[in-house]
This record gives sequence, C-alpha cells and structure tokens, in this order.
Amino acid sequence: MSVLDPFVELLRGLGITFKTMLDKPVTFQYPEEKRQVRPRFRGRHVLKRYENGLEKCIGCSLCAAACPADAIFVEASENSDEKRFSPGERYASTYEINMLRCIYCGFCEDACPTEAIVLGDNYELSFYDRRSAIYTKEMLLEPVPTVEMTTPRKVEAGVFTRSVPEMKDPAD
Ligand code: SF4
Ligand code: SF4
Repeated sequence: MSVLDPFVELLRGLGITFKTMLDKPVTFQYPEEKRQVRPRFRGRHVLKRYENGLEKCIGCSLCAAACPADAIFVEASENSDEKRFSPGERYASTYEINMLRCIYCGFCEDACPTEAIVLGDNYELSFYDRRSAIYTKEMLLEPVPTVEMTTPRKVEAGVFTRSVPEMKDPAD
C-alpha cells in the first residue's frame, strides 16, 4: 500500500459526492409536496357512491366477515323511498373501520358485492389517540358533487329495488 492511496480514495469519494450534487434531488418536500403512489397502492378506505349519489354500501357485512383483523363494524337499517340511502332494502347506518387493526390486505374490497368499499391512495393516517383511529361512515363516504345528490333523499317509488347492480359479465 502506497502513502498516496488514502488520498486517491479520498478524491474518488469526493468525486462521487460532486457528481451526485448535479443529480435531481429524490427527496419530497412533504407535506407541501405529495408523492404519487403506485397504481396498486392500498391506502385509506373510501365508501363509494353511484353516479346518482346513492351509496353503494348495502350494509351486508360481508366485508366485516372477510376481514382477518376484525377491523370493520357494520350495522344495517331499512331504506324507504321517502328516505333512501342506497338501492335495495338496506343501507349501512353505522360503518366503522379501526385503522389501528387494519393490515391493508384488501379482503374487504374483494368480498364486497357492490364494490362499495375501496382502498384508496390516501396514506395520511396518524392519530393522537386510539379513538381517532376509528374511521366512521361520515369520514369514509365519498363526497357528493351537488347538494341534491346527498343521502338520504326522497326517490321515485319502486325504482331502486335491486341491492346489487346487474353485472354485464359475471365472469369478469
Ligand atoms: S384491508 Fe384487510 S384488514 Fe383492513 S379492513 Fe379490509 S379486510 Fe380488514
Ligand atoms: S362495504 Fe360492501 S361488503 Fe361491506 S357492508 Fe357495505 S356492501 Fe356489504
């Protein structure tokens, strides 16, 4: 080993440092700048609505039964045409997910017959206490574009009798 070797190594190291100084930074200035997630990313759940604003969730509890972490609680109540939340007989009057239990496996999404519960791209899940980790239906439900589309609402009698929509191709 020559006495110059440490200096050569030092210069090589500095060379790498100077080279990377020219590269575009890979850090994000979070929270002002948010990182684009991958298409298959599973983040915080969203309870979806149909285009007409009615809630897709029919309170069947299949998502709760499929959840391996017992994170979902659903309570169903009866719809009426005077006060309709979702198509069909029932809607979820209570829907809660305990985010401290959730392992983001997506089983709830797979089990849902109406594609009501979907894992979205929101990863901002931090809480100050355990109670705040329980997300209620109001927190999970998709907002409506106009006030007229909100739920519950009065609808034409006998139109929304089917809970699960017709599937174009059940093999899909
Ligand atoms: S993602 Fe998995 S663990 Fe989380 S609520 Fe759904 S089924 Fe339960
Ligand atoms: S989210 Fe889907 S599976 Fe869960 S209660 Fe609602 S309709 Fe049933």
